Amino acid sequence: MKQEQVDAVLVGSGAGGGIVAKELAVAGWRVVLLERGPWLKTFGHVETRDAWFTGIDRVPFGPERTDVRTVRASDREKARRATECALWQLKHFYRTYFPQSIWFYATCHTLPRAENRVDTDPEVRDARGVPVSRITYRQHARNAGEEQFMADRCAELLEEAGAIKVVKPRIVRESEAGISTHQLGSCRMGSDPASSVADRTGRVHGIPNVYIADGSLLVNPGGANPSLTIQALAYWVSAAILRDHTAS
Ligand SMILES: Cc1cc2nc3c(=O)[nH]c(=O)nc-3n(C[C@H](O)[C@H](O)[C@H](O)COP(=O)(O)OP(=O)(O)OC[C@H]3O[C@@H](n4cnc5c(N)ncnc54)[C@H](O)[C@@H]3O)c2cc1C
Repeated sequence: MKQEQVDAVLVGSGAGGGIVAKELAVAGWRVVLLERGPWLKTFGHVETRDAWFTGIDRVPFGPERTDVRTVRASDREKARRATECALWQLKHFYRTYFPQSIWFYATCHTLPRAENRVDTDPEVRDARGVPVSRITYRQHARNAGEEQFMADRCAELLEEAGAIKVVKPRIVRESEAGISTHQLGSCRMGSDPASSVADRTGRVHGIPNVYIADGSLLVNPGGANPSLTIQALAYWVSAAILRDHTAS
């Protein structure tokens, strides 16, 4: 396919990108979708989004899955030891308490920190010599208080229900560990290019034809599951693209 035959190129067909591809295609745009996934084959939405893309060109590109690595900015050895220790503790916990146990899981509001970011590692490269992504992350100081509050409420509920033994989590202030699968906020929306990547329509500041429409736009993850908000934002971004780039 020649460049002049394409109206839009999309990278990724996830919760956000899938919707933009569909919206542009339905509006009559010629869309090329670049997708390396699915990374999570067992997830229901993977099949759903496959159905959305019938008739849209899909071109495999990008690194092989085994080449993709991420590292923490701080002490890598410490992170490895911490993982081993956490796995041992988890096994011990299940062996001791699992036969008669119940879990309470409370989602907290992870507050953003300006220092948290994803960039490229200056030292580590993948098998093709391309710098790998590097995550710099530490929880906001106020998170620990929020987690403690939720842990205390969960413990009260369990005790009220007759629990013989309640095991509370060890809450670490400004921990380097994240506990959820909701990675958001690395290309946050905002009006000031000094503190945000994209404007309120998802367009990258200073670049007229590059848009972002995924979880990275969220300035703040809130305290709930994010996918519906990401999808709503993708419709918002799609409308902006069509409004600003369709010849009248
Ligand atoms: C185990 C798990 C459970 C979750 N449970 C929930 C839940 O219950 N409720 C909820 O709301 N959210 C849940 N989430 C979070 C939710 O899945 C994400 O927040 C959401 O999918 C993010 O949407 P996105 O568009 O930003 O990215 P994604 O949906 O991850 O889409 C990114 C897409 O880009 C593709 N891609 C990546 N690299 C490349 C590349 N180099 N080239 C081309 N394509 C590429 C990927 O294959 C993927 O299709 C869960 C996440 C996980 C991992």
